[in-house]
Amino acid sequence: MKSLRVAVIGGGVAGAELVRVAHPHGPLQFTLIEPKNRIELQALYPEYLGGLARMNELTAPLEPFCDRVGARHVNERALRLEDHKVICESSEIEFDLAVIATGASQNYFNLKGIENTFSINTLEETIRARQFVEDRNPERIMILGSGLTGVETACVLSEGLDASIYVVEARDRVLPQFSEATSELIEKALSKKGVNVLTSVMVAEVREDSVIFSDGSSLDCDMAIWTAGVKPSPFIEGLDLPKKNGWILVDEYLHAKDDIFAIGDCAWVEVGGKLATKTGLEAERQAKHLARNLHRQAEGRLLEKYTVRASSDSQVALISLGCDCAVGIYGKMCIGAPSRLIYSLKSWIDKSFIKRFRCSR
Ligand SMILES: Cc1cc2nc3c(=O)[nH]c(=O)nc-3n(C[C@H](O)[C@H](O)[C@H](O)COP(=O)(O)OP(=O)(O)OC[C@H]3O[C@@H](n4cnc5c(N)ncnc54)[C@H](O)[C@@H]3O)c2cc1C
Repeated sequence: MKSLRVAVIGGGVAGAELVRVAHPHGPLQFTLIEPKNRIELQALYPEYLGGLARMNELTAPLEPFCDRVGARHVNERALRLEDHKVICESSEIEFDLAVIATGASQNYFNLKGIENTFSINTLEETIRARQFVEDRNPERIMILGSGLTGVETACVLSEGLDASIYVVEARDRVLPQFSEATSELIEKALSKKGVNVLTSVMVAEVREDSVIFSDGSSLDCDMAIWTAGVKPSPFIEGLDLPKKNGWILVDEYLHAKDDIFAIGDCAWVEVGGKLATKTGLEAERQAKHLARNLHRQAEGRLLEKYTVRASSDSQVALISLGCDCAVGIYGKMCIGAPSRLIYSLKSWIDKSFIKRFRCSR
């Protein structure tokens, strides 16, 4: 069996899960390149912001995890790829195979006044937002964007704070990427919680104390949280790889070009007409699939094709609505009225993900 040096760039949900699943089986030598010293779970950021989750529930230290599975951790940012080498800030990592898993960064779409917004796309930004909530006790909070993150954030904050919460959406319904029935259900749940929903409203500028809309109207607020959209990380922009809308275009084997694969949010994964959503669920599935395929490659066996589970036209999600309630979406089906059982399931899935990196393999 051939031994292969695999460089994994990015130790988030996809990169860390790939190393965890693949390594214990043998001939692959992993180097995980990740500038942070811990694995962080974005799915719990809204709860952290609302004071409902603790730091140790959403993070796990990377070094002990890498030691345990025998992977090398390079605690640096990857800058570019050059002829079977990852060029990092102060070292160069040679590889036989590389896996890019650098996630996505917040897209502000040239918004005016970004400096006046908060974001919960990274842990640092979420901590800053939480600190602001604790120190300033804002009375009116505007959540700009009503995707999964916007909706969950609105629910959590409406529960924990005595503040007026607004959700602002440019399209004509909340959760526009989901079915109309789901949007309707979520909109009802938001109103029941006293969250004000403004649809078909474009944000033109965020000022220190107000949000200005494209029709010239405005609303005062003490805190604006931007949750509307993601884009590829700067690392991806510089790579000479096939791309679609800026994301790394991969085939049905999650393969981009030569000896390079890509998984998770940074990849455009479209298989059999199904476009994978940028979710933890998909990132984790792609990681597990690629882990098995890397072993097949080392053993000289044929690779297996990936099948998308959560696609843009058939979403799969558990959406937390606060009050220990959540709804489950599976394609056009919305599972149950908001229920505690689904909330417990979501909470268990999220928390057990991080636990895997803390204890045994
Ligand atoms: C607030 C929020 C809530 C969410 N809730 C859910 C949810 O409930 N359910 C769900 O399924 N999904 C959810 N998601 C989406 C989910 O978190 C992502 O789809 C998932 O994290 C993608 O995994 P990833 O590994 O591709 O990216 P990430 O987990 O973001 O990891 C990328 C890693 O790459 C590293 N990196 C970046 N650039 C470089 C570089 N140049 N060199 C080295 N490393 C680099 C980063 O530091 C990071 O650790 C949520 C997202 C957010 C923001």
